[in-house]
Amino acid sequence: ISSVELTQQFLDRLKHEDGKYNSFITISDEHALAEAKAADEMRAAGKATVWTGVPFAHKDIFCTNGIRTTCGSRMLENFVPPYDATVTANFKAAGAVCLGKTNMDEFAMGSSNESSFYGAVTNPWGLASGDKRVPGGSSGGSAAAVAARLVPAATGTDTGGSIRQPAALCGITGLKPTYGRVSRYGMIAFASSLDQGGPMARTAEDAALMLNVMAGHDPKDSTGIDREVPDYTATLNEPLKGLKIGLPKEYFSDQLSPAMEEQVRNAIREYEKLGATVKEVSLPNARLAIAAYYVIAPAEASANLSRFDGVRYGYRCDDPKDLMDMYTRTRAEGFGNEVKRRILVGTYALSAGYFDAYYLKAQKVRRLIQQDFINAFKEVDVLMSPVSPTPAFRQGEKNTDPVSMYLEDVFTIAINLAGIPAMSVPAGFVDGLPVGLQIIGDYFSEARLLNAAHQFQ
Ligand code: GLN
Repeated sequence: ISSVELTQQFLDRLKHEDGKYNSFITISDEHALAEAKAADEMRAAGKATVWTGVPFAHKDIFCTNGIRTTCGSRMLENFVPPYDATVTANFKAAGAVCLGKTNMDEFAMGSSNESSFYGAVTNPWGLASGDKRVPGGSSGGSAAAVAARLVPAATGTDTGGSIRQPAALCGITGLKPTYGRVSRYGMIAFASSLDQGGPMARTAEDAALMLNVMAGHDPKDSTGIDREVPDYTATLNEPLKGLKIGLPKEYFSDQLSPAMEEQVRNAIREYEKLGATVKEVSLPNARLAIAAYYVIAPAEASANLSRFDGVRYGYRCDDPKDLMDMYTRTRAEGFGNEVKRRILVGTYALSAGYFDAYYLKAQKVRRLIQQDFINAFKEVDVLMSPVSPTPAFRQGEKNTDPVSMYLEDVFTIAINLAGIPAMSVPAGFVDGLPVGLQIIGDYFSEARLLNAAHQFQ
C-alpha cells in the first residue's frame, strides 16, 4: 500500500483508540498526510530510506515547524514553532511520517505524566482489568503510544530517567544516549547539562534504526560531540560471549521489592547463558544522586524557564496592569505546581549566599558520581540493574508526595549526572505489569548496549 494509505489507517486508528490513553496532545493529520505524499514521491524517485513512509510520533518537547509544540504546559498552549528541531529535521529528511505530538509531564518534570496540562496518560497495561496506572514519565505519552501499538516508534527525552522509566513501566525499549550524541537544538530545555533525546520503540533493533537517524554532530548544538556515528544495526548480532557484566550493589538494595529483584536477576542469568560473566561492583556515591540532581536540575530549569515572560511568545495573562503584573500573572497562570516548585528550589539554590552550599556542592558530588562509573568501567563492560523500584503505580498514588515521586528515579538519575548512555529493556512481569532491565554503558557505547539488548530479545 502507499504511504498515504498507511498513514490514513494509522490516523484513523489513533483517533479511535487514543481516548483510552490520552497519549497524544496533538494529532497532525494534514502535516502527516503531506509527509506521506512526499514519502511516496521519494520512493517513486528511488530515494527511499528504511524510514520512508514509516509512521511515528514526537514527544511534544521537540519543535515541529508549523505544528503546535506545548511541552505539556499551558504556557505553550498556542505555540507553533517557526522551525524544526534537528531531530525533527532528521526524521523528515529520512522520509518518516510524524503523526503528531505525544503527551508528557509539564516541561518534562515528573515520573508519572500526571503533571501535564493536557491531562494524565493511562498505561495500556492493567487497563483491561479496569486498573488506571501511570505510564511513567516524563515521556509517558510516547511510551504508552508505542505500548498500545498506536505507533511503532516515538522520540523521548531523558534528563533523569524520562526515557527509561516510562519504557520500563510500559514494557517497551528505550535508550538514553551519551550526553552530546543527539542534538538538543529545538528540544525545549529543562536542565541543559542533563537533557538528552533518544529512541523509544518495541525492540532494540527499532531503537537502533531510530538512533541512526537521531545521532550526529550538529553545529547548532554547542554541547554536541563531533564523533562518527556508526550504523547501530550493524553490530546487533555480535555474540556476547565474554561480556563482563557488573551489578552495582547499591542498585540491589531494600528500595527494590523481592519480586522486582527476581525478574531482574532472572534476566541477568539469561546473559550468563549467552556466555557473559557477572560480578558485583560498587558505586559508592550513587546514593547521593537524587540529592545532587534535585539541586542541579531545578537550578538549570529556573534559568531556562525565565524566558517564559509573556513578552516574546507563549501564554500572556489578560489585561495586565503594568509590566510587573504581566510577568507575575503570566507565570502564575501559565505554569503548573511542579514547575513552580522547581523554579523556587532552583532560584533559591542559585541565590547569592547559598550558591556555594548547594549548587557548587552538588557539582562536586556530580563529579564523584561520574568517577564511580569511570572506575566501574575499568573492571566491566556494562552494568545491569533495575530501572525503577516498582512496576507501574496507580494514578494519584504518588502525585501528592513529591519526594516519593522523585525516588522513582533512584536507579536512573546518576547516569544523567555522569553523562553516560543507558537502556531499558523489557525483562519480565510482576503482578501482570512489565518490569525493565537497565543496561548501562561507558561513554559512546550505544552500539554495545543495543547489541546486548537485541541478543536478549
Ligand atoms: N523524574 C525526573 C524529574 O522529574 C526526571 C525527568 C526527566 O528525565 N525529564 O526531574
